Amino acid sequence: MSTQPVALVTGSSRGIGRGIALALGALGWRVVVNYAGNRQAADECVALVAAAGGQAIAVQGDVGEAGDRHRLVAESVAWGGRIDLLVNNAGVAPAVRADVLDAGEESFDRLIRINLKGPYFLTQAVAKVMIGQAPDVSGSRGQIITVSSISAYTASVNRGDYCVSKAGLGMLTKVFAARLADHGIRVYEIRPGVILTDMTGPVKAKYDALIADGLTPIKRWGDPADIGRAVAAIASGDLPFSTGEVINVDGGFHLHTL
Ligand code: NAP
Repeated sequence: MSTQPVALVTGSSRGIGRGIALALGALGWRVVVNYAGNRQAADECVALVAAAGGQAIAVQGDVGEAGDRHRLVAESVAWGGRIDLLVNNAGVAPAVRADVLDAGEESFDRLIRINLKGPYFLTQAVAKVMIGQAPDVSGSRGQIITVSSISAYTASVNRGDYCVSKAGLGMLTKVFAARLADHGIRVYEIRPGVILTDMTGPVKAKYDALIADGLTPIKRWGDPADIGRAVAAIASGDLPFSTGEVINVDGGFHLHTL
């Protein structure tokens, strides 16, 4: 049986999650590629992880559904024997961007369910698995990374539901970091900036112009591989004295300049 570490990456069939899965594959990790409905994209990602030097399986599951979350954890452990890294990446944008004065409860409930409640309770479930695992030589039992967004602190008046769901992930990171440190489990938040994926495809022209106008000090779109590299650094154990930490991977968007 392989002794290579095991990662569960939610929403890794496409976009940022795929970039993360490929970066872990290049480190030789075993990766559980979770997806919601796009089996073909998940299978493609599994093959790409193998080509990069790792191993992978695809596991369908809606992170917003309790039953799916429990099955996802059980299938990950059945396949890998353990979970060394959870990456809460799966997330959705509102189907329609609506003014915060008009936006409805249905969209709010959907975004909170998938973007916030899902990662919160998946973290709880995976933390219990990690607590039961033997520590490595450094005392580490596992690591947890949550992909939030610059929307965790940037107000967009036409997608308040998305911003609120991402802001909640900041506190998720803090409470689990505080609770799990004694168990040798470190918890991080990665805040991507504007990254070119299917999610941002519909607003590409708008962001092309904003980036050219200086939206970010580093004047380019982010790539899923940029997030993959940050995850790989954490996965490699390069931040052993940090937990509850926010890592901005945003081309400098978060800077206030004068
Ligand atoms: P994307 O291209 O739309 O891909 C979304 C991924 O999540 C797909 O793999 C999709 O699976 C999966 N997914 C969707 N709903 C799910 C659910 N309920 N349960 C499990 N998996 C689900 O999105 P992305 O741009 O890569 O975004 C990934 C994360 O980064 C999200 O949390 C997003 O909020 C965050 N983010 C994105 C940006 C950006 O600029 N793109 C910036 C900041 C933060 P299927 O393929 O099966 O549909």
